[in-house]
This record gives sequence, C-alpha cells and structure tokens, in this order.
Amino acid sequence: MTFNLRLLALLLFISLSANAQTTVIKAGHMFDARSGKMLANQIIIIKDGKIKEVGTNLKFNTADTIIDLSNSWLLPGLMDCHVHITTNISYRSRNWNELYAIESNALRGIRGSVVAKQFLDNGFTTIKDIGNDGNYATADVIKAINKEWIQGPTIIYSGKIIGPYGGQSRGINIEHEHFWDFEYIDADNPDEIKKAIRKNVYYGATVIKLVTGDNGIYDSADIKAAVAEANKYGLKVTVHTLGGEAATNVIKGGAAAIEHGNNLDNSQLQSMKDKGIFLVGTDLSFDNWYAYGLDSVKAKAREDLIVDRLKRAYKIGTKMAFGTDVVIDLPKLNRVESNLKVLKSWNAAGIPPSYILQSMTIYAAELLGIEKNRGVLEQSYYADIIAVKKNPLENIENIKSIQFVMKEGKVIRRN
Ligand SMILES: [Zn+2]
Repeated sequence: MTFNLRLLALLLFISLSANAQTTVIKAGHMFDARSGKMLANQIIIIKDGKIKEVGTNLKFNTADTIIDLSNSWLLPGLMDCHVHITTNISYRSRNWNELYAIESNALRGIRGSVVAKQFLDNGFTTIKDIGNDGNYATADVIKAINKEWIQGPTIIYSGKIIGPYGGQSRGINIEHEHFWDFEYIDADNPDEIKKAIRKNVYYGATVIKLVTGDNGIYDSADIKAAVAEANKYGLKVTVHTLGGEAATNVIKGGAAAIEHGNNLDNSQLQSMKDKGIFLVGTDLSFDNWYAYGLDSVKAKAREDLIVDRLKRAYKIGTKMAFGTDVVIDLPKLNRVESNLKVLKSWNAAGIPPSYILQSMTIYAAELLGIEKNRGVLEQSYYADIIAVKKNPLENIENIKSIQFVMKEGKVIRRN
C-alpha cells in the first residue's frame, strides 16, 4: 500500500514536472492568421500547453526544450469544419442504407478513432464532426481521446442529425419505418426540435446540426426555435442545405452556418454576409465526386458548380470556414489525403492561399466558437502548432508537406 502510494506520488511528480517544462520553438516562418501574412524568425515559448510568448529576439533559458524549425513554415493547427470520422462508404458505391445495416456502432467507433488520428497526424488539430456517426459513436471517440487512450484532435460534435421525417433516407419501405433513427432524429415542429436538441446535448453534443431540403423543408420559425434552444447551452446551429427556399429559411432563421450550399444564389450569399452567417462549402473536386459514383461528365459538372459558387462567395465576401465532408476515401489515400483534394476546387476558383489558410484557422475558430483559445499563434492561446516543409502561401498544396504537429503543447509528430 505504502509502496503504491509512493509510486503514485512519484508518477504525479514526474507528470507535473513534465507539464511545467518550457518548450521553445524557433520558427523560420510563422503564419499570422490575423493578417494573412508570413512572419520571419519568430520564437514561440510554450508552457502548460499554451503559448506564453511569441515574437522576435525573445530571451529563453537554454535548459528549456528547444525545437528548431528555422527552415520550416509554422501555422496554427488546421481545422476542418465538416467531417464524419466514423463513416466510410465503398468507393463508387454510395449506399448509406447498407452502411447502417452492416456496420455496428462499435465498428464505427473503431474507424472513428483511426480517422481521428489521421486528422491529427496530418495537421488538423480541431475538427467538427457533424453526425452520421451511428448511435453517437463519435461521443465515445471523444471520451477515448480525453482519457488519453488514443490521440486525436479537439472534436466539436453534433450528435445525431436533426431533420424533418425520414432523415436523409429515401425509399425505405414502411416495414422498416424509423430505420434511419440509427443516425437521425425526426423533428417536425419547434417542440420536437427542442426535444431533439436536448437529447443531443445529453449525449455530448457541442454544436447542433439540422438538415433541411432533403426530406421536407424547415421554415424560418423552426430554425429560430433551434437557434434559441441551442443558445441556452451556448451552442451554435449549423444546417445542411443546398439552396433554394430551404436555404432562404435557414438564413432568415439566423443559423450560424450553412453546410454545402452548392446552389446558393448571389442574393443568398449576400444575405449570409450581411448576417455574418458562415458558408462551410464542402467543396468536393472532380476526384471526390467520381469516388461518389458519378460518371466523368456529371462529376465535372458538379465540380464546375462548386467552383462557381466558391468564386461568387469569395467575391461577395461571405465568410467561409474550411470543410470537406468526404466519406469515401480515394484509392490508396487516407481520409485526410482524400479530403485535401478539395484544394483543387479552391485553387480553380482563384482563391489566394492566405485566405484558404485563414478559412482553416482563424475563421474556422470563429465559427466553432473557440476563437479565444485556438486559431492563431498568440500569447495565451493553446499551443496547437504545425510545421510544413514548403511555403503554403506559394502553393496551398504545400500544407501536405507536414513535418511537425503539436497539440496543446505536446509533440504528436516530428519528422
Ligand atoms: Zn456531411
């Protein structure tokens, strides 16, 4: 007993000492997400998981842990605002119903833990996982990360997707009514929406996601009711919609963001700008659409539509936060490599790398409500820091040349 207590005290001492240690990073180049500019020769001093000081010519103790990244480009940890870590559908076969029937919640959770690590290792220190996670499988992935059983990014999480009757299922026969309950909550009026939100909060939701326009359309009063209920818990409401009347109601209802918005017209994009509503465009490229089973002609048409909408949103000045939404991995690529195909769409729309990086950091943090803690490399922010070998302002694809990942002051990867 005494021995165990001593051992415990020793372990506690070691872990406290490790935490108290100061780490110093020498950054050859560092992205200032606020200005969109790259700063030269910065020193970042990190203590207790947070940035204590950052600047040029800072004094530090030579006994501190020094990480020399003077030949690298440092960025705040990247954020993906639209992911489904527990979902993967077969290449070129988009059969959601099959997925619900053949994959257990446990299997979904195991996949989620693998994909969460892929995000972290590839520089994404924060993700927003918004539904399609079986029976709250992502909630368990988050618990496993918090218990330090596995490593993963910070996860903003929606729980089940709330939508008009039918979820996003089509053509289910009446004998299998409520088949979609595995991933959705039916809610057809403000009271049902409130109840669904309370259920999601109970199971760990930190953002609320609605879907509208697939099966049934929410009116603006429904959206307003969702926003009011979510606000009670300090949460934001984000809504899957492609465009048309469904999107207009979302904008009128005052949601925090529209997910996808493939068909938004200019007046809708302008209203979003005026009301500060984010677009999370999930800007799939040709390769992603093709993976979804579309033929080449249709995949190209879909990419063109996305590129045009991206261009218009950027020109109008709608706030954009980076999101990918890939649920079908490309051959020989992991989830994040498959996601980053969307950069082709952003490039094709002529959006500058500095803006894309901001949409992945400071703007994403604002949408996620974590802008006071993450998204920039400044004093008192969490030390979520990554480094790449090549300058991403010259070519946004250079964010793939990842060589260093730190999350909350802890080195996850270095090569
Ligand atoms: Zn999605």
